[in-house]
Amino acid sequence: MSEATEAARQDFTPNYRQPDLVMVRGEGVWVFDEQGRRYLDAIAGIAVSALGHCDKGLQQAVHDQVDRLWHMSNLFYTRPSMDLAALLTRHTFAQRVFFCNSGAEANEALMKAARRAQHDLGTGRFEIIAAERSFHGRTFATVTATGQPKYHVGFEPMLPGIDHVPYGDLDAMRDRLTHQTAAILVEPIQGEGGVITPPDGYLKGLRELADQSGAFLLFDEVQTGVGRTGTLLAAEFEGVVPDGCSLAKGLGGGLPIGAFLAGPALADCLVPGTHASTFGGNPVCARAAIEVIERLVRDGLLEQIRSTSAYLESKLRDLIEAHPVAVGLRGRGFLRGLELTSADPELPARARAHGLLIGMVDANQVVRIAPPLTITEVEIDDLCDRLRLSLEA
Ligand code: PLP
Repeated sequence: MSEATEAARQDFTPNYRQPDLVMVRGEGVWVFDEQGRRYLDAIAGIAVSALGHCDKGLQQAVHDQVDRLWHMSNLFYTRPSMDLAALLTRHTFAQRVFFCNSGAEANEALMKAARRAQHDLGTGRFEIIAAERSFHGRTFATVTATGQPKYHVGFEPMLPGIDHVPYGDLDAMRDRLTHQTAAILVEPIQGEGGVITPPDGYLKGLRELADQSGAFLLFDEVQTGVGRTGTLLAAEFEGVVPDGCSLAKGLGGGLPIGAFLAGPALADCLVPGTHASTFGGNPVCARAAIEVIERLVRDGLLEQIRSTSAYLESKLRDLIEAHPVAVGLRGRGFLRGLELTSADPELPARARAHGLLIGMVDANQVVRIAPPLTITEVEIDDLCDRLRLSLEA
């Protein structure tokens, strides 16, 4: 343990287990530590650094905005927040958007809007039905919606009016819906829960159930959205349109911004005084998000992701063929889970020794691979070589 990281360990609350490294610089898919060692970043700050580190276009956009205006809150329109709202409404199902700072906050807005809209309709519906193994954040409402009891321990009681059913199981959802259900909330692919892709037709089935029962359909696209799975929103893959969805992570390309996207049913319920966020719509973060979205939809990054992520998939399947420890592949696009035969909590440390940053989910039995969306085929070869060496060591 270096002196610097030892001191930091005393200064930080102990809710993370940072390794004995200090990161100082990033460039594309690479990050460099204080010792000058470089690492291929296959986790991208947990599916955040969409354009890689220090992307030139993003740098330019942010510098330009830093020279103009930093903060006005949602109290005033600024050009970046207006242009970002226009981009999101043009390229998604959203009729209106609300900006905030993080995934949890976007989900708070999503759930509050659903309850508020039911209130305005006079239905008396308040319950939110989420999925087991889901992850929606760490605030009280979002951790309650998170269907993983380990995240609740010691923080009980959880909030009332939020319940869970097994993910991917339409019958279980149908059985659980009542005249009190305000909304269904799911991730189109569960990220933290283990990179779990639901059966084909699940999202469509949820849409039908929501329509039949009078509940709203909410998608948490904090991890799957913004091109991560090959479409701007992951739900587009099944052609399903929710009533509302949340974005964050990749949206700002590394700067903190979240968004609640509201379809027609939720577009008008957050009237003045009902909801707010001091930092929401920050023009510097919004300017970064414009750059990310424009690269995806205008400059062909979405098409590039579909082809490079197919290449990643083929390389990971080769790795599974060649390596007895790797047994299965989950997810889609650049949100991938490589299943191992058994839990391997030491794998991230071995990977770092081979110059690779990865994450682990599903009780350390699944490697989460979520690189920058700009990663090239040559870099994917490098990633897979380093991963193979890490599995062997
Ligand atoms: N929703 C999903 C699907 C996530 O994966 C996460 C974070 O990993 C969150 C919400 C919470 O986002 P944040 O950490 O920005 O609050």
